[in-house]
Amino acid sequence: MAHGEIRNIGRLIARLWSESAGTRALSLAVSLAGCLNVGASLLFVWATKRIVDHAVAPGHHIPGSCVAVLALCLALQLLLPAMRRRLETLAYTRYVNAMRRRLLRHLLESRWSGRGGLHHGDAISRMRDDAATLASLSCSTIPGILAVAVQLAGAFVFLACLEPKLALAVVFIMPLALIVSKIYVGRTRRITRRIREEESAIQTFLQESLAHRTLLSTLMGTGRRTDSYGTLQDTLTADIMRRTDISVFSNTAVTAGFMAGYTVTFLWSAYGLAAGVVSFGMMTAFLQLVSQVQRPVLDLSRRIPSFINASVAVERIDGILAQPLEDFTPLPVPDNAPMGLRFTGVTYRYADGERDVMASFSHDFRPGSVTAVVGPTGSGKTTLLRLMLGLVEPDAGKAEYYTADGLSGPLRAALRHNMVYVPQGNSLVCGTVRENLLMAAPDATDAMLRDALHAAAADFVLSLPDGLDTQCFEGGGGFSEGQAQRIAIARGLLKKGAIILLDEPTSALDPDTERLLLDRLIRHIGPHATVVIVTHRRAVLDACTDILDIAGAKAKQGRDSSSLGGCSLGGSVGLHTPRE
Ligand code: ADP
Ligand code: MG
Repeated sequence: MAHGEIRNIGRLIARLWSESAGTRALSLAVSLAGCLNVGASLLFVWATKRIVDHAVAPGHHIPGSCVAVLALCLALQLLLPAMRRRLETLAYTRYVNAMRRRLLRHLLESRWSGRGGLHHGDAISRMRDDAATLASLSCSTIPGILAVAVQLAGAFVFLACLEPKLALAVVFIMPLALIVSKIYVGRTRRITRRIREEESAIQTFLQESLAHRTLLSTLMGTGRRTDSYGTLQDTLTADIMRRTDISVFSNTAVTAGFMAGYTVTFLWSAYGLAAGVVSFGMMTAFLQLVSQVQRPVLDLSRRIPSFINASVAVERIDGILAQPLEDFTPLPVPDNAPMGLRFTGVTYRYADGERDVMASFSHDFRPGSVTAVVGPTGSGKTTLLRLMLGLVEPDAGKAEYYTADGLSGPLRAALRHNMVYVPQGNSLVCGTVRENLLMAAPDATDAMLRDALHAAAADFVLSLPDGLDTQCFEGGGGFSEGQAQRIAIARGLLKKGAIILLDEPTSALDPDTERLLLDRLIRHIGPHATVVIVTHRRAVLDACTDILDIAGAKAKQGRDSSSLGGCSLGGSVGLHTPRE
């Protein structure tokens, strides 16, 4: 166990050091305040010894300077901890906030992992609790340990000056108690890891339960769901009790050691007093010093669990940071530059999939074309859009972009600056309609927002009592699905981009609204945009230049299908040409 433990602690310390760059000065100040406090408490012991010795001496004269020192020590012992606590909170908050910002950014920019990714509940639990564990170790426990070590050394030296044998006796009992108390460190780590996993599972479970509460109540499943929650709680409780038993055992062992130390000191002083070799003042000092030696040891032993918690927390946080990031290295493609997407012999299968979603698929989405992608559910329409967005990469074949200036290359995340994507389903976030729209274009004016809403046939927003400030609740609540869909399309249109990818944008619309939306949309985006619409709807097909049946991967390209492989800017001579 010892070897692994030391390696774990070494790794943890290296990690804590690198993470603490922004808060080191504050933590040093916390340590200093702690050390000064220790100095004040030792000085206090010295002053009480002097006062007691003078009080029982024949002259009964208590020096005023000793009383003054006593008062000063008390004042310092009030002030320093207050200051220390304030600095500690500041350091902790800065540390944990910086870490959470970094984790959020990493989560947002890591590569899309489909089914294999962390559940949001788990990710939130890691960001919240594991980051807090590391922050408190780094900003409170470790700076505290320095003060504790100073206290231990100071009290020991002081005691040794007064009575070396007693000092040795007291210090000898401690390590014994500590060793007994820490035989279960390895087991504690395993239980701690399990507890954190169970807490994550509970967070995930709660999040899902609340998100689907209506569904649960229609399935008449709320009771069953609550029972399952109870089962998860029971498992967690059992593990928490296991860990508590170990720590109660450790603490009892340490406390027994203390009792022994204190008793030895007390009896030693009492016999010394009787034999006339120990003064009253010394006895007062002994008893105070013994507790000053013992308290830090107890403190240190209590802090061992926080190292174990932190080493588990580091593993869990590394689980987030180990997720590979997307490559956003800029490409020389200007915003809004007309762009085509060419697939040549593309084969793709999800990492955990049983079959190829796409096999030797070829198609050219020419600049200026409006392609309807059709096919039964599960045939790979959304997957095609994911390939276009660079969320996933082909296993074989080539998926490339090309521009009129002869630029070309594989489809990559960095191309998204030139892409507009409206996902399937409801993708509005909590906040007003305006806030939703501004997500795509933070600097857009109200006129631009109105324009986009009009193009997406979502003018209805403007006639609502609160207009653009109408509140949108969790999961797009407050709007019908068709309304939410059109607001999401307006949001997409506010972003720059010559590639427009719409995943079943009209699935919740009636035919008239659908027709209106498509007419306005196609007029709004101009003749050079490349549009890909995933759809099941007849009306959409009529408005498109190309129809791609993904099931058979049969591309019924327009009359200029010879352009496959070439670059025909604006050459959208399709079956239907509503854009000309
Ligand atoms: P469509 O949009 O045409 O309904 P999808 O592209 O969403 O279909 O899915 C195509 C196939 O890929 C389906 O069989 C589906 O089960 C599978 N699939 C979709 N998403 C994932 C994923 N994240 N991981 C593994 N398989 C997936
Ligand atoms: Mg789909």
